[in-house]
Amino acid sequence: MNLSLIIPVFNEQDNLPLLFEAIYKVMTSLNQSWEVILVDDGSQDDSLSVLKEYAQKDSRHIRVISFRRNFGQTAAIAAGLDYAQGEIIVLLDADMQNDPADIPMMLSKLDEGYDLVSGWRKSRKDNALTRNFPSMIANWIISQVTGVHLHDYGCTLKAYRRDVLEGFRLYGEMHRFIPVYANSVGAKITEMPVNHYPRKFGKTKYGLERTAKVILDLFTVKFLVSYASKPIYLFGGAGGFLMVVSAIIIFYLFVRRLFFMVAIASSPLLQMSAMFFILGFQSILLGLIAELLVRTYHESQRKPTYTIRSIINLEQDPRD
Ligand code: UDP
Ligand code: MG
Repeated sequence: MNLSLIIPVFNEQDNLPLLFEAIYKVMTSLNQSWEVILVDDGSQDDSLSVLKEYAQKDSRHIRVISFRRNFGQTAAIAAGLDYAQGEIIVLLDADMQNDPADIPMMLSKLDEGYDLVSGWRKSRKDNALTRNFPSMIANWIISQVTGVHLHDYGCTLKAYRRDVLEGFRLYGEMHRFIPVYANSVGAKITEMPVNHYPRKFGKTKYGLERTAKVILDLFTVKFLVSYASKPIYLFGGAGGFLMVVSAIIIFYLFVRRLFFMVAIASSPLLQMSAMFFILGFQSILLGLIAELLVRTYHESQRKPTYTIRSIINLEQDPRD
């Protein structure tokens, strides 16, 4: 199998026929083996029966996963990834805001040697105030924090080489952070402008609150990517910093006492110093506990702490 399209579907009954039409048009022009995995995320309308209809007509290409209830777009994508067989994986939305006609262009970009091609909705057709503007700020913050500079993390339409998707699970709203994980395993990433259309049928499932969730997820992702295998650097760093501040305050108090005759306990500085010392020490101890957790995590699941692109003259996995 060459190509897997993964499409989360939640209450999109009227969009699906258009979606299938567009997909068939592109895929027949491509001359590759392909599959589409549609994940029905607990739709309450007729989406599932529409999906079943198409799956019955074309069992070679159309695969459907149906959730018992609504688990969210990220869970739907995660399920699709678990079942996908393609070497190349393309994610897109079911609402026809993304344009399947962009896929060939993205595939040829992958052929140039990239592992991930990220769609960029350069002229995005969503609500400017509640979606586009907050998302612009969020994209900027994410780029600064993670060092992976993309204009549009939120665009679902992205193409991935399968091997950069292995080794992590998706939680919360985290499908948008796949490029950050992919970057951490060494993927070559690029972005390209893609079409974007206003929604014709149905309505968006998200509003302003989504940006807040995204920013919270960013903390987790940054921590996992930068410190998951060495948490003592973060905890120890913070703890060390607090203890240094504590020492500076104490030093200042002694100097003041010796040369200016001001009593050490005459201001709240002494308590502050003691507090910083205790907090700093605690933080370092927490870091040590986190180090234990990391070892349990990697060793119980035999997860390596590295990712390999290829090996030469060696057996597959020495531990198998
Ligand atoms: N979606 C989903 N589960 C949800 C919410 C959304 O599977 O809980 C799907 C939805 O059907 C669509 C895609 O995720 O295919 C993007 O959703 P939407 O168009 O509402 O988001 P927007 O384009 O407004 O960001
Ligand atoms: Mg949409």
